[in-house]
Amino acid sequence: MRVLLVEDDPMIGDAIHGALKDASYAADWVKDGQTALTTLGCQHYDLVLLDLGLPGKDGLEVLASLRAKDNPVPLLIITARDGLDDRLRGLDGGADDYVSKPFQMAELLARMRAVLRRKGGTAAPVIGNGLVSLDPATKEASVNGGSPLQLSNREFSLLQALLVRPGAILSRSELEDRIYGWGEEVESNAVEYLIYVLRRKLGSEVIKNVRGIGWMVSKSA
Ligand code: CA
Repeated sequence: MRVLLVEDDPMIGDAIHGALKDASYAADWVKDGQTALTTLGCQHYDLVLLDLGLPGKDGLEVLASLRAKDNPVPLLIITARDGLDDRLRGLDGGADDYVSKPFQMAELLARMRAVLRRKGGTAAPVIGNGLVSLDPATKEASVNGGSPLQLSNREFSLLQALLVRPGAILSRSELEDRIYGWGEEVESNAVEYLIYVLRRKLGSEVIKNVRGIGWMVSKSA
């Protein structure tokens, strides 16, 4: 999952950016509203975390401009504790949820999972295709209802990218896009290696290789 963090405060931004990476998101960080809009115009994101007090274009303007362009990206606003008015304007302006500063990182991550779940059209916290299931809160996978297996951050990101769209074939670059943020070094065979490790852990039938195109997991039976 690729997340765009829009936050001008260097300390808060750094803390959130680090927590996102630790939680296995491919996370990019921009510090003003105009850059956020430019970035969102040329890169697909699964979720946006938007601070409201930003230099130049503020968060509410960024939100308005995104929704005016019919960009449906799930979006969580980050507001000051006393900003009831801003929170209401944010929610009415098309934000999916908010967190108030200061917040616990665990709460932010849980709210992100909840928004992604609702946007994905599933009520259940665990995603799966009938063969393999994956719990985003614990990064555990299980095959055929078997015992849970712990995945690394990147193994989790890759399997999640495939499982949110069973039946869709994702190329190497599409997978890299969902696993690595800006500035993270990508080894040339990283995706193949992660697939190899996942198959060894979960069984070779879990991820299918479509030769010359990419990889997929089967649609639910
Ligand atoms: Ca700010």
